[in-house]
Amino acid sequence: MSYVNKIMALADSASLRHIEHVACLRCKSCGKKYSLGIQSSCNDCFGPLEVVYNDDVVSEYFRKETIEEGPPNIWRYWPLLPSDRESGLNGLNPGMTPLRDCRNLARFIGIKRIFVKDDTVNPTYSFKDRPVAVSVPKAIELGLKRVGCASTGNLAGATAAAAAKYALSCYVFVPRGLPQTKLLATSIYGAGIIEVKGSYDNANRIANLVADRLSIGLVNINLRPYYVEGSKTLAFEVVEQLKWEEPDRIIVPMGSGALLTAVHRGLNELRKYGLSTGSASVCGTQPARCAPISSAFNNGEDILPVERPETVAESLAIGDPASGGEAIEAIRKTGGFADAPSDEEIIEGQLLLAREEGIFSEPAGGTVIASLKRKVEDGSIASDETVVCLITGNGLKATSHLKFSQYPVVAAPQEAISAIETMEGRRW
Ligand SMILES: *Cc1c(COP(=O)(O)O)cnc(C)c1O
Ligand SMILES: [Zn+2]
Repeated sequence: MSYVNKIMALADSASLRHIEHVACLRCKSCGKKYSLGIQSSCNDCFGPLEVVYNDDVVSEYFRKETIEEGPPNIWRYWPLLPSDRESGLNGLNPGMTPLRDCRNLARFIGIKRIFVKDDTVNPTYSFKDRPVAVSVPKAIELGLKRVGCASTGNLAGATAAAAAKYALSCYVFVPRGLPQTKLLATSIYGAGIIEVKGSYDNANRIANLVADRLSIGLVNINLRPYYVEGSKTLAFEVVEQLKWEEPDRIIVPMGSGALLTAVHRGLNELRKYGLSTGSASVCGTQPARCAPISSAFNNGEDILPVERPETVAESLAIGDPASGGEAIEAIRKTGGFADAPSDEEIIEGQLLLAREEGIFSEPAGGTVIASLKRKVEDGSIASDETVVCLITGNGLKATSHLKFSQYPVVAAPQEAISAIETMEGRRW
């Protein structure tokens, strides 16, 4: 049966409204259940809430064949996404981005196989389109007329674009000093930008208080349990694109730790429903200048918030990471590492990926490549491994820390020829 016919058949069977695959919210710490509302933490113990699905519906529809016939975006995984598929498909439909086999990079770094999951090509050029695609239709379903977020840049653009598509108003709270390109795109999509003095954590706090007063659905705050579900599609896609085989290792950039936590959850769900038998280890990386999760993991201590997060990887500059504890647990359970390369290594990683593979990532991607290189060098990654790097944002969104290499200005062919002779063979 074709995909369209299948949807029609499903829509016909009155016994199965698509949204009925979602059961409730549940506290990850104490297990207390909540109805599906606008809430992100437990009233009793402040633990994070997670979405619970109806197992029988998921077992029936979350199968390889059904998924492979689905649309070429995140909605092919609808039984494990908490919003209605039909309203979801009215959005910008991110996902099914390329998984690139990076042979030049693998040769350069000296391991068997490196794949890049290239989320630089999503609708607003970062992976944030995934969680937004799930949480914005959820906001509508919950009766909200305004959406927004606290953002280090990429989420602002993703939320603004989705709000435009769904004709909602949108307000984004950002710290001072974000790259102009990210803010520009956000305002072009028509969102209201509120710049907050101080760091991301201040923006987050103010957003939280304002949202309560004005009933704004903040995708990564009061809608967080739904939001994080969108990100696990990265894990689903990687495994599907490797023909339902897990790689040995996935390296994930961490800001709040939500993406890494979601990737781990996605892998667990694939295993639970029999779509994979692997055991990939999930590894995290943060810029050394803002690495509260990696430091806590490596020192075996509690997370100590970073007061002044300042790094070229501004999309990862979150000093007080909301999902840090969960990220640490995921890394530990899967035998992964947590790393923290310097800003210099991050830029070098960015250039390496561009020059070996033709992929221009933002510094968050450079952070991943830097850690890959460091961990191969120190022996933590073996040369026979298959490693997947999540490249989560596009380099054109954040360029102020990059410089041109010197180039000539010529007036005659002979000048161009001698210039080329001096440049020949030089790559970087
Ligand atoms: C937001 C973001 C991340 C990490 O997200 P968290 O879920 O906060 O850990 C990674 N890369 C890019 C480009 C991002 O914008
Ligand atoms: Zn609880």
